[in-house]
Order: sequence, then C-alpha cells, then structure tokens
Amino acid sequence: MNPATTIVIATRNKGKTAEIADLLKGFPVLLKNLDDFGPIPEVVEDGNTFDDNAYKKASFTARVLGYPALADDSGLVVDALDGRPGVHSARYGGDGLTDADRCKKLLEEMKGVENRSAAFECVISIAVPTGQALTYEGRCEGDIIDSMKGEGGFGYDPVFMCKKTGKTFAEMTMEEKSGVSHRGTALADVRNEFDKILAWISQHQPIFEKKGCMHGDHS
Ligand code: IMP
Repeated sequence: MNPATTIVIATRNKGKTAEIADLLKGFPVLLKNLDDFGPIPEVVEDGNTFDDNAYKKASFTARVLGYPALADDSGLVVDALDGRPGVHSARYGGDGLTDADRCKKLLEEMKGVENRSAAFECVISIAVPTGQALTYEGRCEGDIIDSMKGEGGFGYDPVFMCKKTGKTFAEMTMEEKSGVSHRGTALADVRNEFDKILAWISQHQPIFEKKGCMHGDHS
C-alpha cells in the first residue's frame, strides 16, 4: 500500500474538517487542518468569485505550509439581487450580525419581490505548493421563502427552500442536506475522483530537500 499523503484542509472549523475526514475515510491520506500548525497569516478573501477565493485559500496554504491543501468557498446567490450576497454571504449586512439577523435582512430585501429563485454554490480547490490546482463545483437550486422555517443547519438554511426536497435546508437532517447540497455534491465529486486526485498530487507535489552545508570544500 502507498504511504499516506498529507493534505491540509485550509480551515480552522472543526465541523468542516470532520465532514471532509468522514468523506475521505478509507483513502491513504493524513488530514490536517490549520490548527495543526503554528500561526500563519490570514488569507484575505477578496476575490470576485467563489472560485477565486477557494483557489486563494488552497494555494496560499499549500505555499506557506509546503503540503497539498484543500479549501472551499461557498455562499448564496439570489437571482433578483443580481447574484448577491454571493461571495459576501458571510458578511452580508455588516459585521456583528447573527445568522438569524442576516436571514431577516434578506427577507426584508426580498419583500414583495416576485422572482424568488436562488442557489447555493460551492467551489472546492485542491492546490499544490507550486500553484497548480484542481477545481470541483456544486450547486443547489431553490427559492427564498418569505419567513424563516426549520431549526437545523446554519447561515441562510431557514430561508432557502430546496427545489429537490421541497423542504428548507433547516428542516432537513445533516445526511439529507449533504445528499443534495452544493457542498455535498462538490465533495461527492471529490470522493469519486479521489484516486485520480491522489495520483495528480503525487505527480505535482514538489519534493523539498534539506540543503546541508558542504564541509571541507574550500576550492
Ligand atoms: P464559507 O464558504 O463556509 O465561508 O461560507 C460562506 C457563507 O455562506 C456562510 O457564512 C453562510 O452565510 C453561507 N453558506 C454557505 N453554505 C451554506 C449552507 O449550507 N447553508 C447556509 N448558509 C451557507
């Protein structure tokens, strides 16, 4: 059997790390996350797309730590708001708001709007320290309803009615949500292709050699 490949999940979020570890169970990988290392500079998530931000996080982490890294970026895209809150989903409405505050703000902005179509999108980037990367995407279609429904999940889950299940994400179990969600479908693609991903990593991961001093060579 091949030795395990170390991959750093570019997050400090324990839930996200556990979800990815669960998904990659059985593969010869040693998963770490940012908490396994000392302090490293924060990545500024100032890209215009989920792809930009996922790549920024994955490639920066791989470069700084010297290991292949996996990062995701996701958010809610509302048609009537020209794709907002999009890459700004986590900060929509400003700093210091709770998830419920952000849902209420969105409901307020959508009051009386006829076109309720929206989607959650997720991009996963897997990068090596030299900057090459693989990209996986997932999207889940739905509608913004007019009041919060359901107790589970996080973020905009209570206001997002999933087209496939006829329930809000907040009304679904974690397993049910993962089966249809933007992140779940992108991660399923990663798992299905994981043998190829490991082969790609072993071809592209540079071998870092420790350079020793040359003693006795004064020529
Ligand atoms: P991140 O990609 O994990 O940083 O997520 C960005 C933001 O998008 C989160 O803070 C949430 O506001 C929103 N978001 C992403 N995925 C979901 C989801 O599955 N449910 C609800 N909100 C989400």
